[in-house]
Amino acid sequence: MLNIKIEFTANKKEKPAANKLGFGNFFTDHMFIVDYTEGKGWYDPRIIPYQSISLDPAAKVFHYGQTVFEGLKAYITKENQVQLFRPESNFKRLNSSNDRLCIPVINEALALEALKKLIAVDREWIPNEPGTSLYIRPFIIATDPCLGVASSKSFQFIMIMCPVGSYYKEGILPVKILVEEHYVRAVPGGTGGAKTAGNYASSLKGQELANKGGYSQTLWLDGKENRYVEEVGSMNIFFKINGTIVTPELNGSILAGITRDSMIQLLQSKNIPIEERRISIDEVVDAYHKGTLQEAFGTGTAAVISPIGELKWKNEKILINQGEMGEVTQMLYETLTGIQYGTVEDSFGWTVKL
Ligand SMILES: *Cc1c(COP(=O)(O)O)cnc(C)c1O
Repeated sequence: MLNIKIEFTANKKEKPAANKLGFGNFFTDHMFIVDYTEGKGWYDPRIIPYQSISLDPAAKVFHYGQTVFEGLKAYITKENQVQLFRPESNFKRLNSSNDRLCIPVINEALALEALKKLIAVDREWIPNEPGTSLYIRPFIIATDPCLGVASSKSFQFIMIMCPVGSYYKEGILPVKILVEEHYVRAVPGGTGGAKTAGNYASSLKGQELANKGGYSQTLWLDGKENRYVEEVGSMNIFFKINGTIVTPELNGSILAGITRDSMIQLLQSKNIPIEERRISIDEVVDAYHKGTLQEAFGTGTAAVISPIGELKWKNEKILINQGEMGEVTQMLYETLTGIQYGTVEDSFGWTVKL
């Protein structure tokens, strides 16, 4: 994948104002693309002007969802330095999703080099207002024009980037979450542990129902017994029960979040007890009744941390910490965003400077 050709755009786009960014609405001037064909491997890596791609309507990705993606961010520090947060982990996870979806492996080191080049080309697109960042979306699609259900023999690996606004323009407001009783996101042995399109398509119905009831996200329970807590929307979930932080253990149907892993390491470094284990919704409800459910929050690249102020399970409303953000949630948010923006020392070696 070395020797990346670069074709610069002749028509640079106008950059949106920081307060208009939102999430995933605007794209930078360039994109990265590399092709794969069985027998030949990955070839012709190139950075080209951001543009539509042309695919045969029979391309397998449209019909059978053979595709994977990633999401990571680049930040500008106050010294005007660009840094990525744990990008090696994203490319490693992309390969583990590839494995599950029968997509050929990519060279992780070369993918990171390509990303650094792409960011350098579109450097001026990284916003630097507080809380803003550059969101990067690497993804791979199956392109064989054939309707047979079988793994594709050709693929494209693409990276696009969007400047994104502050998630918390009005301050960090705890969210209300509906615990889903009927629909499930993933099943044991399924693809829940992979970042692949189908998981998100199957979550839309539950998300829509939650939204209609005035809830911002769904809390998904396990797909077998409908009993064990898995994830909240597309974030991992943590609870503070009686002073201990508890998060569901990785069981194959939960996505192994890089923010989740970072939170666990941060908690360990501060000697705050953290357990990765199965946790049933009954245990959460019991803790609430006993008064030991102290905090709850979701974690993911987009929001970093989203405090949970209320859970609705069947007919019961579970109010957490009077609907306010808890102290551990606050500390984790400040420490992690501090490392990402370079205001807190990164003793973990997580940041990669460009
Ligand atoms: C991406 C994702 C997460 C969060 O992962 P991060 O690496 O922390 O961004 C959690 N759950 C699901 C289902 C996801 O797709």
